[in-house]
Amino acid sequence: MAQRIYNFNPGPAALPLTVLEEIQNELIDFRGSGMSILEVSHRSKWFEEVLDDAILRIKRLLKLDDRYHVLFLQGGASMQFCMVPMNLALPQKSVDYIDTGTWSTKAIKEARIQGLDVRVVASSEDRAFTYIPKGVEVDPDAAYLHLTSNNTIRGTQWRELPAPGGVPLVSDMSSDIFSRVFDPTPFGCFYAGAQKNAGPAGVTLVVIREDLLQRVPDNIPTMLKYTTYSSKKSMFNTPPCFAIYVVQLVTKWLEETIGGVEKMEAVNRKKAELLYGYIDSERFYRGTAEADSRSLMNVTFRLANPDLEPKFISEATAAGLGGLKGHRSVGGCRASLYNALPIEAVDALVSFMKDFVKKNG
Ligand code: PMP
Repeated sequence: MAQRIYNFNPGPAALPLTVLEEIQNELIDFRGSGMSILEVSHRSKWFEEVLDDAILRIKRLLKLDDRYHVLFLQGGASMQFCMVPMNLALPQKSVDYIDTGTWSTKAIKEARIQGLDVRVVASSEDRAFTYIPKGVEVDPDAAYLHLTSNNTIRGTQWRELPAPGGVPLVSDMSSDIFSRVFDPTPFGCFYAGAQKNAGPAGVTLVVIREDLLQRVPDNIPTMLKYTTYSSKKSMFNTPPCFAIYVVQLVTKWLEETIGGVEKMEAVNRKKAELLYGYIDSERFYRGTAEADSRSLMNVTFRLANPDLEPKFISEATAAGLGGLKGHRSVGGCRASLYNALPIEAVDALVSFMKDFVKKNG
């Protein structure tokens, strides 16, 4: 078999090897159908079983009660930036946002385009989005409060959510869904592009609570209404079947091999501690997010001498450690430690970093 690298890509990102092998094994003849999953009808029993199982597993993993609908959409998490306000705004109420960097900023822009009363109630822009705002006061009259639970580019993550006091929270969880336990109760809606922790690119998970579905206005295009998906189990039209199938396999892996989100979180914490611990112990490197806001998923760092960063990244790549370049908008380095990245990968990265100091320090 070809040599696989340790894949620190920010998304699309590493998938569990056993999932890839399972796809390979059943690709030509999917579960006795005589066809591949890429070729079966989305109305067939084979695909319906996949869809039902994926929904069930997502509900179990996230401990969602019957009020929550699990939907599969296309258009990426970016499509949700416009769908959320289009579907969930309320007359005479503001839609409130917290700005913690690029993805939040884009969500705010899409709400503004719709001419709504958009309020940015907190922002970390004053310190280059390197932290998560604290003590955010939530206006009880807002239609919803939107936040980005994990900021993939800046490497920050919410630890304690603002107390929403009855206002539904809406969260972009693209880069930390399934990575840690959270209480879904304050959330009216959350969404995630699958391509980091849940599967491949091409499908977006949307979880929405029944009472928020009541808000969906009639006068928006059919394909942009959450109710189109909730009333037809995401099969109003042809869904992204293959991507949903991979999500099913990833959630099965998370339940059956890892043992659920709590166990996954414990591993994720170990991975992050290992890397942050090393970065903090060595002046050669510098974490870019403030310590109390650090992400467990995306570890962003610089070299004390940034001129060495291209060399660091190219030598890491040559050593089988891929995807360590920081986002093009901020530069530097970033190690994405999503669920499917094994702890051995972080060990290997830390060894490489030590070695790099010896040669260049
Ligand atoms: N939100 C977050 C937090 C992200 O990390 C990303 C992609 N990196 C997006 C939204 C955009 O996702 P998509 O490409 O699926 O539209």
